[in-house]
Amino acid sequence: MKLNIQEIPEEGLTLELSVDETTVTELASLDAEGVQYRLLKPLKAHLRISLAGSIVSVQGSLEAAISVNCSRCLKGFTHTTEPAFNLYYVRGAKEHEEREKELTPEETEINYLEGDILDTTELLLEQFSLNFAMKPLCRSDCKGLCLACGADLNKGPCGCKKEKRIDHRFASLKDFKVK
Ligand SMILES: [Zn+2]
Ligand SMILES: [Zn+2]
Repeated sequence: MKLNIQEIPEEGLTLELSVDETTVTELASLDAEGVQYRLLKPLKAHLRISLAGSIVSVQGSLEAAISVNCSRCLKGFTHTTEPAFNLYYVRGAKEHEEREKELTPEETEINYLEGDILDTTELLLEQFSLNFAMKPLCRSDCKGLCLACGADLNKGPCGCKKEKRIDHRFASLKDFKVK
């Protein structure tokens, strides 16, 4: 949705938005980050937008669920997130420095608008990508796969001993020396 910031009423605006799967797949930069995923439902967002002087402030929360593979154990899982964010926008990149003086320290994360249009879809896709750009983990303490036998270590120890793995490496070194 493209919002003309001139049309934000004095009391502010509350928006309930959703971005469908096709739009997310086409426009989100997550693929560029190397994350392979499938969106499980449309992105939902709640935005509170207000205009204070020349600054547009956006308080929002996002609801998203994707299906993705764990970067450690490779198992598919549902990754959900409901991040909240505060964003600030000012008009006109040219007037940067002048505008920056009006901002309080909490408002240091400033985005610049060209003209009067705030693209809320773009805003939501950015927040979506930011929140999923990290290497996905099925759980924070995922033990991953054994480097030697490939077993899923979340299901218990695989029987490979750490020393053995080291032995393997030394063994190949020894072979090399013998030749
Ligand atoms: Zn995992
Ligand atoms: Zn193993």
